[in-house]
Amino acid sequence: MPGNLLAQFLGGDGAARFPTYPVLNLMAVGQRHGNIRGVVMPVEVRLCKKYMKLAVKEALRNLEETHGGPFGACIVREERILSVARNTVLKQDATSHAEINAIRDASKKLKTFDLSGCVIYSTTEPCPMCFGAIHWAKIDALVYGTSISEVKMRGFNELTIANSVMKRLGKSQVKIFPHFLRDECRQLLEKWDSLEKKCLY
Ligand SMILES: [Zn+2]
Repeated sequence: MPGNLLAQFLGGDGAARFPTYPVLNLMAVGQRHGNIRGVVMPVEVRLCKKYMKLAVKEALRNLEETHGGPFGACIVREERILSVARNTVLKQDATSHAEINAIRDASKKLKTFDLSGCVIYSTTEPCPMCFGAIHWAKIDALVYGTSISEVKMRGFNELTIANSVMKRLGKSQVKIFPHFLRDECRQLLEKWDSLEKKCLY
């Protein structure tokens, strides 16, 4: 990659580029997330928002169809959207969390278990099962909105082990970018709160 381009990414103007989401400055210099494989490319916040909003929109469908909890996920590689999925646990599979469904769809599309180079956007911090699956799928980075504790307090049967703790203890290479579009993701949970009939699991 041209040296001046790299210097631009690594230079001190990152904060100016992403004033609202400083955490994405790290992603900008750490990810293969552009259209040139293997080359460090910047991640535009605009795109990150778009992907997370797809996950939110997908999760919103569960407020009407209640196939599962208010959780969505989106997997992207090199600006190609591979999957957008929601939680479908209530269709009789406890493992059908949004992230697992998204991983299965993306793997099917790429015809491989190996999702290296992918980024997963999850409306809520993945549970230990899903963080484990993200690690096993070799996904490069995880961007999430609300935290596990915000879901646990709503009565879901969460194991409250933070992804950062699992990453540290398991020495996982998955990069974690927490609390992205947190307010929008939290609104999703609040809408869920206001439902008259809801099934916790
Ligand atoms: Zn999960």
